[in-house]
Formats: sequence, structure tokens, C-alpha cells
Amino acid sequence: KNLVIAIDGYSSCGKSTLAKALAKKLGFIYIDSGAMYRAITLYFLRNNVDLENHDAIVDALQHIELNFHAKDYESHITLNGEEVSDEIRLMPVSEAVSPVSAIKEVRTEMVKQQQRMGKSKNIVMDGRDIGTAVFPDAQVKFFMTADPKIRAERRYNEMLSKGDTSITLEEVFENIAHRDYADTTRVESPLTRAEDAIILDNTEITEAEQLAFALEKVQP
Ligand code: C5P
Repeated sequence: KNLVIAIDGYSSCGKSTLAKALAKKLGFIYIDSGAMYRAITLYFLRNNVDLENHDAIVDALQHIELNFHAKDYESHITLNGEEVSDEIRLMPVSEAVSPVSAIKEVRTEMVKQQQRMGKSKNIVMDGRDIGTAVFPDAQVKFFMTADPKIRAERRYNEMLSKGDTSITLEEVFENIAHRDYADTTRVESPLTRAEDAIILDNTEITEAEQLAFALEKVQP
């Protein structure tokens, strides 16, 4: 049977950093489920899809094809064939993604596609509902958290290093706090720790320490 490692947690907690490192170390496929919600959001923004109109949402979902392709263990996503990996990280998408990901029809479709990707391959998938809704039977589950101020600083520095100077540290902090609130209070699959998930607080540990901790849990 193939192995599934589920990583959930708050926004900008380093889920993707850990997921990529584990995938690389173990030779697993890394799947960034947040990129899927972000790409759907980008499509909705570009096409002015009305979030109140369920028929329009269902129709739009039928016109969206998402695909992942890996480059050096960095995950890249295409939206109807177009590479959108960078655009989905910018503020317009970050600000609109929580309401889009709260829509039932959107989640049903994403979960279906995610389950298909983890059916026969060894994967590491990160997100908000991977250990609870997508793969409740995942062999190993992590729930990540860290001090919100540290998370904002890390994300801000990451944006700066990519040359994105369009926003302030304060705005990054606001966006993270806002998404945490929206993700934990929504009706459909709110962000919550699966009972059997291992808690990993990385406020005060390095990336190397966190990888060692996780590997220990995966391969005792
Ligand atoms: O992981 P990332 O921060 O890129 O995810 C963006 C947004 O997508 C989250 O704030 C959340 O609203 C949504 N999401 C979700 N379920 C997932 C992954 C992401 O609702 N499994």
C-alpha cells in the first residue's frame, strides 16, 4: 500500500518547507493543496465569477483544469495549461482565497482531485483539511503551528527575497491573521487538528531540526 503523509496547520507556518524536505528525503511526490485553491481563486477573479451564484461556480469549475509538474522538488501548478505558480502567491489571490475555499462545491471538487492523486503513489500533501477530510486514514499526520508574528516575518522576508516590495510587514500579518480566522471558523471542513495528528510548533526550531523531528515520526 502506498504511503500518505498529511501536513495541516495555520497559514505561513512552514508547511510547504517541511513537506518539500520530506518529499525530497523520502522520494515522495509533494502536492501543495493550497496552490489548487489559489489557482481556482485566480480563475474566479479573472472571470469575475460571482461567489454568491452557485450555478456560475459549478459551471466555472467545469472549465478549470489544474495540473502539477515538479521542477527540483519545487511544485509548479498550471491553470488550463498556463503556469500560474508565481501569480497565485500575490496579494490579490491571498486576499480572495479564503471565501473561495469556503464554498462547498469548490471543496468537493478539490478533495476528489486530491484523493485521486494520493490513490496509488507515495505522497506528502499539505493544506488545512488533509488529515481530517482528504486522507483521514493517512499513515502519518502533522499539525503545524508557530507564533503569528514569526510567521508574518518569515513570509515577509520570503516575499522580499523574491523582489516583491508591494506590501508591508503589517499587511502580511493582517492577511495571515485574517486567513487563520476565516479558515478555522468556516462551515465546510474548518481547519482543525485531526485527533491523531502530531503537533509541530516551529517557532523556535530550525528547518533542519523540524525535518529531523518529522523523519523520526515517519521512520521510527
Ligand atoms: O496553503 P496556502 O496558504 O497557500 O492556502 C491558501 C488558502 O487556501 C488557505 O488560506 C485556505 O483558505 C485554503 N486552503 C484550504 N484547504 C486546503 C488548503 C488551502 O481551504 N487544503
